[in-house]
Amino acid sequence: MATSYKVAIDAGHGSNTAGKRTPPLPKDIDVNKDGKIDIKKGEQYREHYASVGVAYHLNRELQRCGFTTMRTGWDDDNAYNDPDTAIADRQKTIANAKCDYCISIHFNAYGDGKSFNSAEGFGVYIHDKYPGQSKKLAETVLKHLAGGSKQKNRGVKTEALGMCNCSSMGVKAAIICELAFMTNEYEAVNLMANEDYWKECAREICKGLCEFTGVKYVEETPEKKTIYRVQVGAFANKSNAEKLVAELKKKGYDAIIVKAQQ
Ligand SMILES: [Zn+2]
Repeated sequence: MATSYKVAIDAGHGSNTAGKRTPPLPKDIDVNKDGKIDIKKGEQYREHYASVGVAYHLNRELQRCGFTTMRTGWDDDNAYNDPDTAIADRQKTIANAKCDYCISIHFNAYGDGKSFNSAEGFGVYIHDKYPGQSKKLAETVLKHLAGGSKQKNRGVKTEALGMCNCSSMGVKAAIICELAFMTNEYEAVNLMANEDYWKECAREICKGLCEFTGVKYVEETPEKKTIYRVQVGAFANKSNAEKLVAELKKKGYDAIIVKAQQ
């Protein structure tokens, strides 16, 4: 069932934005667990790559639940070729599209960015002067984020940031989700550079928006697997079927009778 809500999914920064990356990582990392190393030891992983990862999964989640979505700061699942769109342009795009809500995805940082430190956790920013209904949305999303990977919950913070300004974007609520610290070694390695965590956050943010808007959350349907059955006989007469099953069982086969209409 389609809802009438339109959601802007914003991915922070651009592929080549200066700063906005982890300090050099301490080991090789396979982000999507496909057996291939995506980040080599010593490389710095960029905030935008992880943000697009979350945004991509959030887009799928929201669409499955019936929301209409649009993207700002990213255009597809390729996080490597996005320019850093100016905040004012992102705001204008969202206002022109008459979005109801804006969710901006980021990862946090603390310190000079050259080495790791102990600042940690997730939090949500809302605007100090133009928050609309963002506080309630932020609290609902945080509740779901807190139910996932064990992390410090930094709560709702207010600041005059462009991507949570409900007035300039013409939205009912706008939140900036800071999902982990890229300057915290544990969070960078295990959460930010981990597609399972991207999916988890996307699911939790979507559940938060669903609860906030009263839209029913639709679970992902597991992929259907093909199975192959072996048939050794088909009978119109049930007792003939039972005879064959008994014979097969005697030979050690786990045979059963399946009733079917011809
Ligand atoms: Zn950011």
